[in-house]
Amino acid sequence: MSTENYVCIACPIGCPLELVHEGDQIVDVSGNKCVRGAKYARQEFTDPRRTFSTTVPIEGSNWARLPVKLAAPVPKDRILEAAQAVHQLRVQAPIRMGEVLARDLLGLDGVNVVATRSLGRA
Ligand code: SF4
Repeated sequence: MSTENYVCIACPIGCPLELVHEGDQIVDVSGNKCVRGAKYARQEFTDPRRTFSTTVPIEGSNWARLPVKLAAPVPKDRILEAAQAVHQLRVQAPIRMGEVLARDLLGLDGVNVVATRSLGRA
């Protein structure tokens, strides 16, 4: 059997997690103070995913860039590809907070690029 160690990022406490496995089979998860920690460790072991926030250029606004985020995490090994795709976006004011700027990024269901603030026209 082998162990993997993680730090839970589901809340600010940051519980140290230990996942015991035999090959691909998870045997035990410990160190978590709640079920979210166990879920996080299992996700990290089987299908690690990440999300990010960034900005994209906007035209027709008093601001040069619009803050955006991914609405759902992407597989960790595709995060660079996702960032490159997001940084190719160009948007036009006005934009409303929550507006979807791109759907199903990289063909991944629900991985939408969403505006995190409203920006009106200049
Ligand atoms: S296991 Fe629960 S209490 Fe611990 S960091 Fe994760 S979410 Fe927070």
